[in-house]
Amino acid sequence: MPRPQKCRRVAYVPGVTYFKPAGIPMRSLEEIQLSVEEAEALRLKDLEGMEQGPASERMNVSRPTFQRVLSSARRKVADVLLNGRAIRISGGNYEMASRRLRCRSGHEWDAPLEPEADKSPALCPTCNTPGTHK
Ligand SMILES: [Zn+2]
Repeated sequence: MPRPQKCRRVAYVPGVTYFKPAGIPMRSLEEIQLSVEEAEALRLKDLEGMEQGPASERMNVSRPTFQRVLSSARRKVADVLLNGRAIRISGGNYEMASRRLRCRSGHEWDAPLEPEADKSPALCPTCNTPGTHK
């Protein structure tokens, strides 16, 4: 029986999710799908330069799983760049990383965990005052 796949934790979903080579009609392009967790592995390892250990912990997966997701992502990106394919970032098996925040009035809520969120505190959905880490 296949082991149920653990949910990979993702802290960032790219805003731009489709890329295609200029000047080639869509119908003659092969489209590659990059999953959101593959994009996250690329972001952590190649963009932020994290080591594999901390990066796999951030995504809540084992190192071999992280390595497999990362290798798959790199192979797809190379294929897209070198063979002139379109790429769509979507789907996959992941959950958004979030953190519990609390405002001065004691309301609590979950806010998405993003690098930027550390600088500007999320506002309380009830009373609109900034929240802090619990
Ligand atoms: Zn509040």
